[in-house]
Amino acid sequence: MHNLVERLFPICRSITGDGVRETLRILQDIIPLEVHEVPTGTAAFDWTIPKEWNVRDAYIKNSRGRKVIDFGVSNLHLVSYSVPVQKRLSLAELSKHLHTDPDHPDWVPYRTSYYNETWGFCLSHNQFQELEEDEYEIHIDADLQDGSLTYGELVVPGNEAEEVLLFAHTCHPSLCNDNLSGIALVTHLAQILSEIELRYTYRFVFAPATIGSITWLSRNEEALGRIRHGLVASVLGDPGGFHYKRTYDGDADIDRAVVQSLRDLGVPFEVREFEPWGYDERQFNSPGLRLPVGRLTRSPNGEFAEYHTSADNLEFVKAECLGQSLHAYLAIVNTLEANRVYKNLSPNGEPQLGRRGLYRKLGGLQSVEATQLAMLWVLNGSDGHNSLLDIAERAKMPFSQVQTAASLLESNHLLALVEPDVAE
Ligand code: ZN
Repeated sequence: MHNLVERLFPICRSITGDGVRETLRILQDIIPLEVHEVPTGTAAFDWTIPKEWNVRDAYIKNSRGRKVIDFGVSNLHLVSYSVPVQKRLSLAELSKHLHTDPDHPDWVPYRTSYYNETWGFCLSHNQFQELEEDEYEIHIDADLQDGSLTYGELVVPGNEAEEVLLFAHTCHPSLCNDNLSGIALVTHLAQILSEIELRYTYRFVFAPATIGSITWLSRNEEALGRIRHGLVASVLGDPGGFHYKRTYDGDADIDRAVVQSLRDLGVPFEVREFEPWGYDERQFNSPGLRLPVGRLTRSPNGEFAEYHTSADNLEFVKAECLGQSLHAYLAIVNTLEANRVYKNLSPNGEPQLGRRGLYRKLGGLQSVEATQLAMLWVLNGSDGHNSLLDIAERAKMPFSQVQTAASLLESNHLLALVEPDVAE
């Protein structure tokens, strides 16, 4: 995942343009993504696909011809969606178009101006203070014209038509934690899941934030009813603890599966209530849709100093943190996949476990006592209505223990799977 982040890092992405195409093309080396192009001017719910933005070069030169700010050094130097410019300006005039972060004087901030035609440059506050009174040449060689918005999608089929949605935004340029960590994690999760047998069908969407998720939603309304669970993935490579943001309803299976899985992993985490701000979870949870899509990040967006600055770089994102995050996503997938409703086939009193070799004869299992207790919980809870997650929560047990107990009991004909439509 870190290698992929490194490969994608230099590319200048935005909400449209060749950088997004190139990014998705690289992902196609790993997973068979389908790439969609939606033309400028197309309506997407209340929004319209904007003009496509591409930039070839941008710089500010002083009167001696030296480039004092150069897009070629870092794509963060140019405000995303800057219009083409060729002019000479005094320092005072130029300063109106310069953005710095005085609190972190070495860092270059990241700024965008998607829906407001203007231009600007970002630079470190130290660089800014070195600028002398002079006449500067401003050069932005960019196109802002009719084109398309690009997104990628992959469906990995499972045994059931019901879907799990995983979404990563793709619109940030050379920034690692937000959003390359999410892109890398979702790509590798898709690769792993495409190699195993699955219960649910998994849909992976890589699209620009806001306009991209809204565009995808508006073009897939007939598929939305199949989405049972979903997660927005980003900010997954920093060493901060996990932060899970609940769905609008707050008590969806995905909310409970994430909390149970993170607790079982023993990793530090915090749960936040839904708010209509942040990443694309707010589009999925809008009132007309109310899809059960939560968001799992490490540090929340906007709550780490490096956020949206040049310090969100290849050193800030750690391979071991990405690995731990992928492990967490896989644990959540396992919980969703295994969260079934069973019916106890011997529900009048406890079935005799000893006769079936299930009582204190469980050689090889990690914890015999715990598995026995889990079997009693699963037998007692499995009245045809409670899921294994309900039982694990009530028993305050790791989901894997309840899952192991259920599979032992099922193979001993003490439990039968309840088909989903019967359970509801
Ligand atoms: Zn961002």
